[in-house]
Amino acid sequence: MHVRELTNLPTPDFAFDPSVPGACVTGVRPYRKGTFRLNSERVSGRFVVHNYGHGGAGITLSWGCAAKVQDMVRQFLATSPQTEAAVLGAGVMGLTAATMLLDLGLKIRIFSDRKLTDTTSFKAGGQWAVSVVETAMNQQDLKAIIKTSYTTFKDSIGKGFGVCERPNYCPKPADGLEMVLNLLPGLLPARQRLDRLPFQNHTQPGFLYRTLLIEPPIFLPRLKNDLEARGVTFVDKRFASKADILATVPQKIIINCTGMGAKKLWNDTEMAGVRGYLAMLPAQPALQYLYSRNGYLFPRSDHVVIGGTTDPGEDEDLNPAKCKELVDVLAAAFGRLAQVPMPVDHIDHPRNRRLADPRLSVSD
Ligand SMILES: Cc1cc2nc3c(=O)[nH]c(=O)nc-3n(C[C@H](O)[C@H](O)[C@H](O)COP(=O)(O)OP(=O)(O)OC[C@H]3O[C@@H](n4cnc5c(N)ncnc54)[C@H](O)[C@@H]3O)c2cc1C
Repeated sequence: MHVRELTNLPTPDFAFDPSVPGACVTGVRPYRKGTFRLNSERVSGRFVVHNYGHGGAGITLSWGCAAKVQDMVRQFLATSPQTEAAVLGAGVMGLTAATMLLDLGLKIRIFSDRKLTDTTSFKAGGQWAVSVVETAMNQQDLKAIIKTSYTTFKDSIGKGFGVCERPNYCPKPADGLEMVLNLLPGLLPARQRLDRLPFQNHTQPGFLYRTLLIEPPIFLPRLKNDLEARGVTFVDKRFASKADILATVPQKIIINCTGMGAKKLWNDTEMAGVRGYLAMLPAQPALQYLYSRNGYLFPRSDHVVIGGTTDPGEDEDLNPAKCKELVDVLAAAFGRLAQVPMPVDHIDHPRNRRLADPRLSVSD
C-alpha cells in the first residue's frame, strides 16, 4: 500500500541532561550465537529446561518461549509427577515461564540475584520486534513462539500490562519486523510505503509499520504482583556455579532463565553480550508513535526512550557521552541540531556487522 499525503506529527523535545539520575541507562542484551537456548536436559536426576539467550528480543519472544517451557514440563510431568518447580531468574523470561507453569498446578519458587528494577528486562526499550537475536532453529517452532508472543501481548492491551499498539516510522525497512511479515504473513498489520515520513525536516520516502510497545516498568511489576498473588515466592540468591544450583535448589524441575548469567553458570561459550545505551528523556504524551533511524525513539508513559546502539561488551557502566550522542543524532534527523557525525558503534555502522553472522538482525 502506498500513502501520499500526511501532515507532520509532533516533533519530540530533545532537551536532555545526562547528569539527571536515571537519564542514562546501560544494558547488556543476552545474545547467543546461532539461536537462543530453549531445550531440556537431565542433570544429576533433575529435569532442567533452559530458556535464555534472547538478545534484543527477550520481551518480544517471552510469552511464546514460556509456552514452550510449559509444553516441556507438561510432558515431563506425564511420566514423573511433581508438585513444585524452581525458576532461576526473575527477568521477563523467568516471570513469564513461572506464570505459565502455575497453570500446570505447580508450586513455584523463583530465585534471583537482582532486584526486578536491576534486571536487563527492566531496562529494555520495549518495542515488539525480533531484533538482535539469532533464530537458527526449527522454523515451525519459531513461528509458534512468535505467534503466541504477539497474540498474547496483543490480547493484553488495555488490561494493565503496559502494552499498546503504535505506528513505527522508519526511513529504511525494519529487519526485526520485516522478518515477522515474511515468516508469518497476516500476523502484523501490513507495512505501508510513504512518499515521505510525516515529520519536520523529513523529505525522503519511508515505511510505516504497526507494532506493539510494551513498557517494562509496567509489564514486569504486574507479572511479579500477579505471581505473588498466586502464591509464588521470590528468593534473593546468587548462584556461583551449576554445582551450587544443584546443591541449593531442592526442586526436581528447574527452569533456567538466567540470561547473561547462563554464560558462566552453564559454561555456555555461545553467549556474548551485546551492550546498548539508552537515553531517558522526560515523558511527552503528545508523541504517540515510534521512530527508528540510526537509533530509535520510543515514547513511553514514563520516558521518551532513545536507544539502539549495539556494541560487544558485558559491563554495565554508564556512558553519559554516548547517551548524549544518541539524542543528538535523532535531534539532527528532526532538524533540531546541525548534522552530527555518525557514532562509530551506532546500529547502522558497518563496523557493527562484525558482531555476528548475517542472521543477526541489527535494525531495531
Ligand atoms: C538497551 C536494551 C534495549 C532492549 N530493547 C528491547 C526491546 O525493545 N524489545 C525486546 O523484546 N527486548 C529488548 N531488549 C532485550 C531484553 O531486555 C532481553 O532480551 C531480556 O531482558 C532477557 O530477559 P532474561 O529474563 O533472559 O534476562 P534478565 O532480565 O537479565 O534476567 C536474568 C535473571 O537471572 C538472574 N541471574 C542471572 N545470573 C544469576 C546468578 N548467577 N544467580 C542468581 N540469579 C541470576 C538475574 O538476577 C535476573 O533475575 C533490550 C535490551 C537492552 C540491553
